[in-house]
Amino acid sequence: MIKLEEYKHLTENKAIEKLQAPLKAYLPLIQHLGKVCVPIVNIGDSVSVGQKIADAQSAVSSPIHSSISGRVSAILDWPHPVLGRCKAIVIDSDTEEVKSEKSKVRSQEEIEKLTPDQIRGIVQEAGIVGMGGAAFPTYIKLNPSKPVDTLIINAAECEPFLTGDYRLMVEKTEEILKGVFVIARCLGVKDIFIAIEDNKPEAIEKLKAKSEKLKVKVLKTSYPQGGEKQLVKSVLGRQVPSGKLPLDIGVVVQNISTSFAVYEAVYQNKSLYERVVTVSGSCLENPKNLLVRLGTPIKELIDACGVLKEEPAKIIIGGPMMGLAQYTDQVPVIKSTTGVVLFSAKEAKSILPQVCIRCGSCVRCCPMGLVPSLLNALSEKGLWEQAKENSVMDCIECGCCSYVCPANRNIIQAIKRAKAEISRK
Ligand code: SF4
Ligand code: SF4
Repeated sequence: MIKLEEYKHLTENKAIEKLQAPLKAYLPLIQHLGKVCVPIVNIGDSVSVGQKIADAQSAVSSPIHSSISGRVSAILDWPHPVLGRCKAIVIDSDTEEVKSEKSKVRSQEEIEKLTPDQIRGIVQEAGIVGMGGAAFPTYIKLNPSKPVDTLIINAAECEPFLTGDYRLMVEKTEEILKGVFVIARCLGVKDIFIAIEDNKPEAIEKLKAKSEKLKVKVLKTSYPQGGEKQLVKSVLGRQVPSGKLPLDIGVVVQNISTSFAVYEAVYQNKSLYERVVTVSGSCLENPKNLLVRLGTPIKELIDACGVLKEEPAKIIIGGPMMGLAQYTDQVPVIKSTTGVVLFSAKEAKSILPQVCIRCGSCVRCCPMGLVPSLLNALSEKGLWEQAKENSVMDCIECGCCSYVCPANRNIIQAIKRAKAEISRK
């Protein structure tokens, strides 16, 4: 693991602000890991806030809900932050904010009577997915196929610039904890840890003060502390074997924002149609943490941060280590959008790769114990089988190897290519 410049000071003390709902929302039919959804509305239909507009057609998928009220004006190909382009449902706002009829708050008594199956059903219907970036449907993780003894809530938020999870922990502590206990009840676990880095003292204090029924595990700030396998090792001292998941050793990991979304679904009957996004970077006059409706083009988030100090040369969705560069500011916020980071021309300047000098820095920093320089070379030669034998599929794509490489090798791109080629076979 490595120590990074954090840049969290730009937004960590900025309270979450509600961004005005967009006049047009672009809601991609895939915002999760799994199969694409199918529209259940037609052009011309009226929709309300929180209404389901596209449904899952397979178990590994998650329904999509409207984030504004208005009329469906198109179903078309539109920029997507992960896939490049994808079919999206376009809603034109009526600015009335008509809520879906099902909005009915549940009392604590009603919630205590819910069975784990009923909770999973609510979470599935609400379209909740892993909100730390992975976007795996949450209801599946709440229904483990193997015995589970421990729940770890991932509050590390180890990527530079991002502070949305941190602000939620500070501002919505009790709600998050309610969500965590609902998840734990669903899994039938008693051991609950919140894993948080030591650069978040205010959140640590609040979490510790509000609950004695779980353990707040304070971890050293380093990258990628928030990787699932790294968290399991740091919190429990257990090693997730190569090619396996935390579930294989009795652990489920959930993100802190996902816990908040579970609270909103179970307590407030709210589907996932908005989320907190950090908008940051040196080009912005006033970086912010914004509560944003899904489907809002990122241009509207950038505009909400004041006049640009400098035209950005690169816009990244997610953090700078694992995020993806975007080709347009019309790309919408989706369920997995943690941040929008703008880089100036100087910051974005890329230096041409040189030959590997065999310094071993990439090997020393790899949190998965891989040999990135070897995987890079195998990928460049198209030796996919050998890359597989050298555990390329265990790479968590944290980007540490590329970050430390003094020869500026594009190691992470080469590894992603090898993984894609192997998965295709
Ligand atoms: S090989 Fe993968 S896991 Fe290892 S440092 Fe590089 S990106 Fe991270
Ligand atoms: S860090 Fe770069 S130069 Fe050093 S061994 Fe790895 S690939 Fe080669």
